[in-house]
Amino acid sequence: MRKYEDTYQHKGLRKKLVDLLKEKGITDEKVLDAINNIPRHYFLDSAFDKIAYEDRAFPIAADQTISQPYTVAYQTQLLQVRKNDKVLEIGTGSVYQSTVLAEMGAWVYTIERQKKLYDLQKEYFFRSRYPNIKFFFGDGFEGLPTFAPFDKIIITAAAPFIPPKLVQQLKTGGLMVIPVDEGENQRMLRLTKQADGTVTEEAFEEFSFVPMLTGKNRN
Ligand code: SAH
Repeated sequence: MRKYEDTYQHKGLRKKLVDLLKEKGITDEKVLDAINNIPRHYFLDSAFDKIAYEDRAFPIAADQTISQPYTVAYQTQLLQVRKNDKVLEIGTGSVYQSTVLAEMGAWVYTIERQKKLYDLQKEYFFRSRYPNIKFFFGDGFEGLPTFAPFDKIIITAAAPFIPPKLVQQLKTGGLMVIPVDEGENQRMLRLTKQADGTVTEEAFEEFSFVPMLTGKNRN
């Protein structure tokens, strides 16, 4: 069994990471507080312990990645998370982004298509601290019709297009933050659902995500 320890050194490095995110333009105090409160090194292999607070993505199981802290902060800030928001996340991965949302008081529904990663959530060390995260094995393009509508939807993989079923599952006035493919990189978009079912679109910075793929992978 791995021993999880959040030392003063970890806390100090985390504080520095938060300062860096501020310098890079993150202003939402609730996002910064959440990142300051969550031991990111717990979400990585212990081999990354010393570098877990660098502002970079790292490999996790099933050839996937834990997003760069700046990317997590950026997407979360765009999502304007409020306490008790019902949030659908596509791409559970390491559960780090889900934990940031849960720490901010959201009810999180997170979907992962890689069985190997979905199964890891059974060992999720914060289960009792964040009972507001619900895990699903499935294809994010389908969303979760049974639990719709959602106040907010966040996609943490590179979407080839805006999935229509996810737009349907968004509340009127709800927000979707989604990186959409644009050649090499993805453009971060924020969509706002209108009363007539259409969306308005705002475009932000470019990022680089692992691809959003269709179907489930049971291996
Ligand atoms: N939010 C994660 C980021 C993981 S990377 C974190 O904080 O660590 C993106 C994840 O999206 C990968 O785990 C990948 O398997 C998953 N993914 C890709 N396409 C998907 C889809 N259609 N449905 C659900 N998950 C998907």
